[in-house]
Amino acid sequence: MRTAIYPGSFDPLTNGHLDLIERATKLFDRVIVGIARNESKQPLFDPKERMAMVQEAVTPYKSVAVEWFDGLLVNYAEKQGACAIIRGLRAVSDFEFEFQLALMNRKLNERVETIFMMPRETYTFLSSRIIKEIAHLGGDVSSFVPVHVQVALKKKFGQTT
Ligand code: ADP
Repeated sequence: MRTAIYPGSFDPLTNGHLDLIERATKLFDRVIVGIARNESKQPLFDPKERMAMVQEAVTPYKSVAVEWFDGLLVNYAEKQGACAIIRGLRAVSDFEFEFQLALMNRKLNERVETIFMMPRETYTFLSSRIIKEIAHLGGDVSSFVPVHVQVALKKKFGQTT
């Protein structure tokens, strides 16, 4: 039984995240989407809202579970019996930070490997931050997030659906 953890803020979930989740299900028997609860960043959606959005989106994938986690990622991965951490690489700009993080996590726990995956090209420019900015300004994000996330964003920004 091979388990992978896919950690992140998911504030909110985008089609780029979903693309990675789907790819991960083809490689691992079980994929746990780990939503970081204690964020130093000020999230737009609270952990419960983020959890509900991810849960709804992953319903078609039977091998995917969604959980919150606090504290050190490698400790959480070990506790869940995971052999891998999934991270996304969209562009060269992601590389430096992700490289540092992966090597640090390896130092902390040699037993957990970090696996990098690339999304479909059309999602390489997608980030939760940019989605929030566009949605806040009333732009159309329908090609970048699931419908229920689009609705949640409109609600959050007090826009009529
Ligand atoms: P974090 O706060 O850790 O950056 P995010 O929720 O933004 O969390 O992203 C979680 C992971 O998903 C990160 O590895 C990030 O690089 C990856 N990711 C985010 N958006 C995309 C995308 N459009 N395509 C591929 N990977 C992505």
